[in-house]
Amino acid sequence: LVMPLGQVIGSYTQLQTGLGALARVQEVLALDPEHDEVAERPAAGAVLRVPRAGDPVPLLELDGVGFGYPDGTPVLDGVSFTVPAGSRTALVGPSGAGKSTVLALVEGFYPLTSGAVRWAGTDVRELPRAALRARMGYVEQEAPVLAGTVRENLLLATPDADDAQLWQALADVGLTAVVARSPLGLDVPVGDDGVLLSGGERQRLAIARSLLSRPALLLLDEPTASLDARNEQLLRDTLAAAAADRALLVVAHRLSTVIDSDQIVVLDGGRVVAVGTHAELVDTDPLYRELATAQLLV
Ligand code: ATP
Repeated sequence: LVMPLGQVIGSYTQLQTGLGALARVQEVLALDPEHDEVAERPAAGAVLRVPRAGDPVPLLELDGVGFGYPDGTPVLDGVSFTVPAGSRTALVGPSGAGKSTVLALVEGFYPLTSGAVRWAGTDVRELPRAALRARMGYVEQEAPVLAGTVRENLLLATPDADDAQLWQALADVGLTAVVARSPLGLDVPVGDDGVLLSGGERQRLAIARSLLSRPALLLLDEPTASLDARNEQLLRDTLAAAAADRALLVVAHRLSTVIDSDQIVVLDGGRVVAVGTHAELVDTDPLYRELATAQLLV
């Protein structure tokens, strides 16, 4: 009796751990109401348009965005820039400049103090929030990974995806070899007794999950923790693959991952101080040149 009883208790503990992780992932996918403070008041007949690359109307526009967290001082002041459809935009700047906050505002976690965020020219406050969220993928710094299998992790947002789509998503983020190494393939567990332990691998799995739902805009907060050279190269390749048919807005802590972006927005103290390509900014912006020099890129 003791053995089976022990197994039941062990399974129960595993189940609880799994449920805890699932709750966390669902919280992030669904966004808990506490963070979902932007009131939805869609204008009658508002339609969510998705501009194509080359469209004169940008996919996303921040126009004079001002913001402060409820408990503190202003964080963003008059932040304006656009993300054209199909382009890669990077946000860089010193720690605390407000980069992650910009992504949180685009996601609609908090109401703006001033200014507007527009999607295809329409104020997002006038668009149906669920439809808008369905067009955006958001991969945060500490990417949530479920204590289940690779397949379970990938299917969270797109339960109907078939195996070919799952393998393609893994290929896009450079994880094919890691998963194919196990005889269990897609059913290999993630975690202590499985694969994909490194932070870089976990974040790429979260990117793969996000790409499966084919977002028009991918918001990515690059991990701050140091990546080894191989994982850094894999993240660069992942970004290039992800950018093939969508817009990317990436918060970058290491410039090398975003050096080939279409545009780089430099934030300092909550303000946009410069916008340009890497080559332009190295020439014209002292702060960017300083960041690039510190990272041995010039
Ligand atoms: P890092 O490069 O270190 O990630 P960042 O440029 O992304 O920094 P944010 O994380 O956007 O900067 O933070 C901007 C400012 O807002 C900081 O002063 C930070 O302390 C503050 N802040 C961030 N999140 C919150 C929060 N949830 N509540 C209150 N203040 C916050």
